[in-house]
Amino acid sequence: MRYVIGNLLDMFDEGYFRIIGQGCNCFNTMGSGIAAQISKKYPQAYVEDCKTVKGDRNKLGTYTKYEFPNSDQVLLNCYSQYTFWDRNDMFSYDALKKVLTAIKNDFQEDLMEGQCIAFPLIGAGLAQGNWKLISEIFEEVAIPNCYIVVWNQDEWDRVVAPIFMSRKDKLIDDCDDIYPYISHEDPKYHIDNCPFCDGEINNDNIDYRNEFAQIECNCGASIKGYDVFDCINKWNNRRG
Ligand SMILES: [Zn+2]
Repeated sequence: MRYVIGNLLDMFDEGYFRIIGQGCNCFNTMGSGIAAQISKKYPQAYVEDCKTVKGDRNKLGTYTKYEFPNSDQVLLNCYSQYTFWDRNDMFSYDALKKVLTAIKNDFQEDLMEGQCIAFPLIGAGLAQGNWKLISEIFEEVAIPNCYIVVWNQDEWDRVVAPIFMSRKDKLIDDCDDIYPYISHEDPKYHIDNCPFCDGEINNDNIDYRNEFAQIECNCGASIKGYDVFDCINKWNNRRG
């Protein structure tokens, strides 16, 4: 599971992802958050949701899909919450795990061939789920080529960054983890702040183009030069 900062729907339109999934309640309502954007932009996806029985709890852990007629892209409505008004009967971690597992089983072959799937921060917004627990479910199910698209830096700082701060012994080996921390003002690119503790780090003697370079932060985190270099290349390629 990798993180990307950007607009999920724009990236979907541009073909970065073959499949996207969104979290849905069981009451045929897509009135707010990214669901509202999706039902406006892709009304047929909402039609698919409306074919299901309103208020049926058995939908939890399942998904409905809309297959785009002019491409091979697919949009999945993932039933990960029951109501959208009762915080005691809203987001379900079990339902999320079940639906992600079903998606993994159903699309595994395509995803293993290099096609990509993306989700927003399912459950972490209006559904009031805890992203640390949710991200652990994503990591446990381990859908191949799975991306989490974070709306902007603010959302990253608020929702995602804190879980890395609590895992500071982790050696970063995924360039998407550190992308938001790369300075893009300096043409050489470097990391100004530690992705784990956000503290300033000393770049002076580090050549990030050397894949064996490694910087140790005072908080105990290690950042590898290879990750920074790979990350810059990847993102430059993506942006043409
Ligand atoms: Zn640190």
